[in-house]
Amino acid sequence: MSLRKIVSLEDPILRRKANRVTDFSNNLQKLVDDMVETLIDAPGVGLAAPQVAVSQRLLIVRLPDDEESVKEYGKDAGVLYVLANPEIVKASKDMVEGVEACLSIPGFFGKVDRHESVVIKAQDRYGKPTRVKASGWLARVFQHEIDHLNGQLYIDIASEVWEARPDDEEDAEEHPIAE
Ligand code: ZN
Repeated sequence: MSLRKIVSLEDPILRRKANRVTDFSNNLQKLVDDMVETLIDAPGVGLAAPQVAVSQRLLIVRLPDDEESVKEYGKDAGVLYVLANPEIVKASKDMVEGVEACLSIPGFFGKVDRHESVVIKAQDRYGKPTRVKASGWLARVFQHEIDHLNGQLYIDIASEVWEARPDDEEDAEEHPIAE
């Protein structure tokens, strides 16, 4: 496994609609392993392949599993999701506002409205069909990552974006939101 470089806002790959994953062989397995390592190193909670300069419809999500996170996220904490060709097939009418950040846009936060819950149809890392039901924070992270696969960034849809100041650190720690 090796760390991959996370591309930033000015890289045009982030604005491209990513290609469907069709080849689930060794290259993809290596990409998934590298993305997991890169996400944990960052650290962040979600990463889409275009963020590591690969224009493929692939994302990974993993909420942290420290004591605080287990209290907050329950059974969602620490579970690694690897989704290829994800598609939201059901979304709640209920929208919730929350604070997001992005590993490709370091130092900024924004307020974004997301569906409170979603059902996602996808394939796992080996190409097997899978379905994920997510609500709350987990649903938010999936929506953020799926947007990446369509060339959309949270700053495009945020009602407000602001730059983190050093004294915001405490606030940032309460919301482990980098995606
Ligand atoms: Zn992001």
